[in-house]
Amino acid sequence: MSSASLKPMPRPGILDIAAYVPGKEHAPGVARVFKLSSNETPLGPSPKALDAFKQSAGHLEIYPDGQAKLLREAIADVHGLNAANIICGNGSDELLGLLCHVYLGPGDEGIITEHGFLVYKIQIMACGATPVVAKENDCRVDVDAILAAVTDKTKIVFIANPGNPTGTYVPASEIRRLHAALPPHVILVLDGAYAEYVRRNDYEAGIELVSTSRNVVMTRTFSKAYGLAALRIGWAYGPAEIIDALNRIRGPFNLNAPAISAGAAAMRDQDFIRQAVDHNTHWIERLSEAFTQLGLKVTPSVANFVLIHFPDTDGKRAADADDFLTSRGYVLRAVRSYGFDNALRMSVGSEEANLGVIDALTTFMGRS
Ligand SMILES: *Cc1c(COP(=O)(O)O)cnc(C)c1O
Repeated sequence: MSSASLKPMPRPGILDIAAYVPGKEHAPGVARVFKLSSNETPLGPSPKALDAFKQSAGHLEIYPDGQAKLLREAIADVHGLNAANIICGNGSDELLGLLCHVYLGPGDEGIITEHGFLVYKIQIMACGATPVVAKENDCRVDVDAILAAVTDKTKIVFIANPGNPTGTYVPASEIRRLHAALPPHVILVLDGAYAEYVRRNDYEAGIELVSTSRNVVMTRTFSKAYGLAALRIGWAYGPAEIIDALNRIRGPFNLNAPAISAGAAAMRDQDFIRQAVDHNTHWIERLSEAFTQLGLKVTPSVANFVLIHFPDTDGKRAADADDFLTSRGYVLRAVRSYGFDNALRMSVGSEEANLGVIDALTTFMGRS
C-alpha cells in the first residue's frame, strides 16, 4: 500500500468544506419564541396533507414506492408537466447534490453567485470540483458576471430565483439571455424554492425553458409555501437524459411513504397555497414599508423573507439587533456566511410575530 495513513482520510477538499449551519431556533430564557430564521411558513401545511400523513402511519412496515408515482403525478397534473420528466428528492437539497455528483468531478468548475445559497458550494466541493463565484449587482444576480466566469471547465451554473437570502429575482428575459449564451454542455440549474410566492409578470420559474432545452433543470421544494419542511420533499423538472442520470444514483427509496402521501395531497390543495401566498404578499409589503420608515434599508423581496440592512453605528448594528430581538423571542437569521456582515434576514411570520418584530425594531431604533 502506498500513501499509507494511520487513519481513514477524507478525499482531498472534503475538510475544506464549512458545514451548513441552519437558522437558530432558540432564544435562551424566553418563554415564547417566534422562529423567523428558516423561511418556514407560519400557516403550516394544508389540513389535507396532514390527514394523508396520518393515514400513512398505519403502514410503516411497508417500503415506500421507489418511484414516488403518486407524488410525481400530482406535481405533473397541477403544473401541466410530463411525470416522466420529474424526479423527487429528500428535500431539494438532495437533488442539488445529485446534480453535482452526476456532472462534476475534480478539475471541473461550478458557478455560484456572490450571495447564493450555501448548499451549492458545499455540493460542488463534495465532488472535488471548484466553486467559482460570480459577483452580484446590489443583491441581484448579474447575468454578465456569470457569463464572464464561464471557462472550458464550467459544467454547471446554480441560480436561486428568487435568491436566498436576498429575495430578489432575475426576470425571465435575463434568464433566457444567460441560457442562450451558455455553452450547450453546461447545465443551468434554476432553484425555484420560493417560486410560489412570486407575483411578477416578468418572472418565470423555468418550466418553459426546461421544456425547450436540453441543459436546464428547475428544482422546487415542499419546505416553504407548502409547509412540509419536516418531511423533506423536493422535486426537479428536467430533460429526460438528465432525469435518467439522476435516477441512476439516487437512493432507491429516497422519499419516505408519509412524505409521498402528504406531498401529493398538499400539491392538489392549491386553494391552500393561494391563501399562504396572499398572507405573504400582504406582509412582505407591510414589513418592508415599516422597516424602511424606521430608517432601515430593506432589499426589495418577492419571496417570503426580507433582508434588513442595519446602520454602521455602535449599538445599532445587525449583531446588536439580533441580540435585542432574540431577548424578546424573535429569532431572525444572521447572514454573515452569505456575505452580509450587517444585515438580518427575517422570514414572514404570523400576524402576531410580524407586529412584534415591527414593535421591537421600533424600540431598537429609538423611534418609540
Ligand atoms: C429553503 C431552500 C431550498 C429548499 O431546500 P429543501 O431541501 O427542499 O428543504 C432550496 N434552495 C433554496 C435557495 C432555499 O432557500
